[in-house]
Amino acid sequence: MSRLFDLPLNHDDLRRWRGCARRFWLSRRHPVAHTAQPDVPTPVVEAALRAAYPLADAIPPPATPAQWPRAMGQTLHCLSGNDRVPEGWAVLGACLTSEDRAQARIDVVTQGPMGFQLFKVRCATVGDESDVDAAALWTHVMARCGFRVQSVGLLLVDTDFTYPGHGCYAGLFREVDLAPVLGSRPVAQWLEGMRTCERGPEPAATPGPHCTQHGGCEFNAQCHVRSTCPPPDVTERQASLDIVGRELAAELSAAGHANVYSVPMQSLSNPRHRRAVQAVQQGGPVLAPEASAQMRALPYPRHCLRFDTIGLAVPLWPGTQPYQVLPLQWSCLVQHANGHTEQHGFLADAQGPDPRRAFAQSLLLALGDNGPVLAYNAGFERNRIRDLAALFEDLAPALQAVLDRLVDLYPMARAHYYHPVMAGSWSFRSISRAVAPELQNRLTAIERDGHPSAQAVFARLQQRGLDASSRQRLRTALQAHGQTETEVVRHLAHLLEHAAPCPSA
Ligand code: SF4
Repeated sequence: MSRLFDLPLNHDDLRRWRGCARRFWLSRRHPVAHTAQPDVPTPVVEAALRAAYPLADAIPPPATPAQWPRAMGQTLHCLSGNDRVPEGWAVLGACLTSEDRAQARIDVVTQGPMGFQLFKVRCATVGDESDVDAAALWTHVMARCGFRVQSVGLLLVDTDFTYPGHGCYAGLFREVDLAPVLGSRPVAQWLEGMRTCERGPEPAATPGPHCTQHGGCEFNAQCHVRSTCPPPDVTERQASLDIVGRELAAELSAAGHANVYSVPMQSLSNPRHRRAVQAVQQGGPVLAPEASAQMRALPYPRHCLRFDTIGLAVPLWPGTQPYQVLPLQWSCLVQHANGHTEQHGFLADAQGPDPRRAFAQSLLLALGDNGPVLAYNAGFERNRIRDLAALFEDLAPALQAVLDRLVDLYPMARAHYYHPVMAGSWSFRSISRAVAPELQNRLTAIERDGHPSAQAVFARLQQRGLDASSRQRLRTALQAHGQTETEVVRHLAHLLEHAAPCPSA
């Protein structure tokens, strides 16, 4: 066990310890359970750093503890060289261990007139406390290794940056000085605290918000977080006063109501609120028949449309900016008058060129010249089509014509429908639970595969080194997800169209 306590402490250990002593303790005892990957910059981030520091020395990331001494030797060699370094010089991924067994892999070290300048790269527009903690630890390690530190900062994504192409990422990052927030963080005390913690008994589980921070704790299962912090009772959520909005909920609460069961219908003037309360009180959906006529008036073929998009911190395609919303997949279920349906779709190649033109052209082909285009919360699809029309002058007339055919089912549903399972939410997920419960298993398939969203699957596809079968499996999962979403749109359209007069509505 004594060897355990010899293991160096790095900023991942510090982040865990600062968030939850138990998480830190478990991660030190069960290192195989670590989910964190070594901080290896993606090729694009590496290209951006290379552009900013063209004369940089890059230290290859040590894959094992045994490789650390070599990486540290290379770092010391780079840092101990000539005092007068040329413009554009830096050490990328500097590896150091101090005599008190603190370890740092510093993203960027450059030299200023008064000492070294350290930077932590963060592919985000803002940093957080864990970044400042890491910077404090790195400063401590540098100082203990005998290097004078002049300043510490973050390299954050500059949202004004436009990628010109050809790997020119100079200007992607902006420097933010951490001096105003660094203060005098007690790194030596932290190190002592971590050593004491890891030598001590297993800390008790303290489930709380820290269990879900930074991508979630890898020890959730051991701590039974789910069972000790159960979500609010489903029925309770569905009957919450909040389903009629915070403002009215406060009034109803002040009037003595604990949930909507006791709220008299005549006290509600807004029909939407009345429908929601009535649905909960009667334990089933309420659907006003007026939507039916609007839906029946829609001709065939009908096109149920869904878009998936991505906003990359580091833009991949020329002319795009950080976090710009870019379409990556469209899915369309075409429904004909005779009941026949067909599925169409487009999914960008995650490793390929800018997909927007192919996206727009294939979409126009699938939508043809006539028939309504049904979408839920269609403002999203509308804005993406407008973006494409602004980008491709030759396709603009056809794309504009699609905008004229868009039918938004969201306001129709809000004006005529409510199901208790929605619990006051009108998100696509909520409406899908209400109108297509049988599709939930398919809709959540990518989550069960460990991806929180379609965007996360696409981001995974962009990673280098993914084997062909994994790539194909992920693409198939994304396409199936999009298709299932269009089926939800069709279910909703069908429900609204076939609304029967309901005496209680
Ligand atoms: S699940 Fe929560 S309580 Fe348990 S180790 Fe992780 S952060 Fe700590």
